[in-house]
Order: sequence, then C-alpha cells, then structure tokens
Amino acid sequence: MAEKEMYDVIIVGGGPAGLTAGIYAKRAALDTVLVEKGVPGGQVAVTPAVENYPGFPEIGGFELCEKFLQHAKSYDLEVLQTEVEAVEPGNDHHAVRLSDGVHLKAHALILATGGLPRILNIHGERENFGKGVSYCATCDGFFFRDKTVAVIGGGDTALEDALYLSKIAKKVYLIHRRDAFRGSKILQEQVFSEPRIECVLNAVVDEIKADESGVSGLSVRDTQTGRLQDLDCEGVFILVGFSPNIDLVPAGVQKSPTGYVLTDEKCETSIPGIFAVGDLRQKYANQIVLAAADGCTAALACAHYVEAVKTRLKVPA
Ligand code: NAP
Repeated sequence: MAEKEMYDVIIVGGGPAGLTAGIYAKRAALDTVLVEKGVPGGQVAVTPAVENYPGFPEIGGFELCEKFLQHAKSYDLEVLQTEVEAVEPGNDHHAVRLSDGVHLKAHALILATGGLPRILNIHGERENFGKGVSYCATCDGFFFRDKTVAVIGGGDTALEDALYLSKIAKKVYLIHRRDAFRGSKILQEQVFSEPRIECVLNAVVDEIKADESGVSGLSVRDTQTGRLQDLDCEGVFILVGFSPNIDLVPAGVQKSPTGYVLTDEKCETSIPGIFAVGDLRQKYANQIVLAAADGCTAALACAHYVEAVKTRLKVPA
C-alpha cells in the first residue's frame, strides 16, 4: 500500500529509466513513489550479459538492475509493487489508478513502461510458446543444453543471445531476413568467429514445426530464390525487436507513426507534467545508458516543473 495519496512525482515502471529517475528525483528532494508491477529491471533483467554500460565491462543484466534498485533504495525511494491500470491527466495534478482501485496523485508523472518483444505471427509460434518457442534466451536457454536451436533476428539482441546460446547449445542457427546484420560490428565479429553459430542470411521462417515433445524444426524460405529448406532444431528464439508499451499513455499524448511517445529534450510529452523515458520514447537508439540518461533528464526537469506548479498553487515547500 502507498504511504500517502499525493506525491510530487509518480514514476510508472522500474527498469533502468524509471529507477534512474527515482534516484535523481529523490536527490532533488521530490516526494516520489515508483510503481512497478513485476520484478524491477524490465527487459534488462532478462539480458544475459551487458558489456557496454560504462564502468562495468561485463555484468549480468539482472545484477545491473539489482544495483540500480539498491542505489535508488539508498535514497529511500518508495517502491510499490502493483499494477497501474490507468493514467489520468489533470490540471493541477495528474493521477494514476492502481489495480486495487486506489488513486495516487502527483504534480508530475514519469512514464517508464518500456516495451515488449515483437512476435512474428507465423504458424506454430503461438501454439509452441513454452514448448520450444521463446522470446528470452536468458530465461530459457538452460533447457537447450547440447541441443540445436535457432535464433531469428539480426539486431543486437539476436546477436548477443546467439552468442549466449552458443555456450549452452550444440549448434545455433542465426536466421536473418537480410544479407547484413543490424547489430553492432563488435557483436558481428564475435558471431562470425563462433564455430557453433551458423548464419542463415536472406531467410525468413514460414513455419515452426512441432511434434508431441515440442518444437522439432523450421521451414525457412530464401528471400532471393524462394527456395524452402527445413532446419531441425528443438528451440527457437524469436528476437526481432520490441514494441513500446503504450497502453498507459493517455490519449492526448503525441506519438510517432511507429507508436513511440514523442517528447521534447526534457523528455516531457505533449501534456505538461507528463514525462516519458526509456524505450517508450522515440529516440535514435534504445540502450541502457540512454534509458538511464532519460530518467535523469526527466527527473531534473520534473524538479523545475513541480517547483513552478507549487509556486503557482501556493503549496508550502
Ligand atoms: P532491433 O535493433 O530493432 O532489431 C530487430 C531485428 O529483427 C532486425 O534485425 C530486424 O531486421 C529483425 N526483424 C524485425 N521484424 C522482423 C520480422 N518480422 N521478421 C524477421 N526479422 C525481423 O531490436 P533489438 O535487437 O531487440 O534491439 C533493440 C534495441 O536495444 C536496439 O537499439 C539495440 O541496439 C538495443 N540493444 C542493445 C544491447 C546492448 O547494447 N548490449 C543489447 C540488446 C539490445 P532488419 O534489420 O532487416 O530490420
């Protein structure tokens, strides 16, 4: 249960962006609560290894999130583990409705709800989820020791997770729809020099095949020749990016054509006092360090915003 009904700032979402916003908001002496429905950390918590967060040449995603959380809690950030059902913009304050019906109010809101893995929508995908189809190598890689698996995608996540799986599985097919990977050059070099990874380029998966024990293989189509080939595998990791979680974004907030929230340089949305940070927000790239930077920016901007509102409303400091 929340400690009170009215705050300076409510942060919705506890990934790197939300937790960093919490750190900076508390350091700015803002009365702050962070609401998170699951385990703090968001997508990063299920990332096997993070190698590009400054100061940590290699750290597990879960471990990094734990550090963010402990850091935020060291400033006595109130963290509420419950679900937000709706965000309700107002004039003097905004509100969030929690799943138990309780309303929390604040002068400013920071939305940090991240994104979810994209699905392919192919035959056999939904039917075999949890029976060999996975969207998270860290969560499920363990089940494929010495087996053959396939990774679909060509971004950083697909490359990173193919490398992770190559340490567990006997063989990893890395299937990408173009002839060049989108992911970073350093990961590409690691992938190309890993003998357990076989790259299948210019290829899309038409169907995930299964038998009574789960996934048994893939039907893969060459995008240039149209030729079909079957690849045997017992697991398939679909890592083709993700979509921003915009369910809680109020209707009046402007979004990009691809559904990301548009903000100004302070991470403020088109509704004054409502900020959006991290993977939810339209920006050049999604990186942990950029999510953290967004959290910092929004919290600093919130401090000015909240002070201005309190002055206008003559709320005692
Ligand atoms: P991403 O960069 O958007 O890559 C998605 C990949 O999936 C692309 O290669 C795309 O192909 C492919 N794809 C999309 N839809 C597809 C479909 N329907 N069928 C087949 N392939 C499809 O997503 P991500 O790899 O999850 O990364 C998201 C963000 O997080 C990126 O900014 C990334 O840099 C960042 N990230 C960073 C790290 C790290 O720094 N350690 C780790 C993970 C992620 P095309 O290339 O042809 O579009």
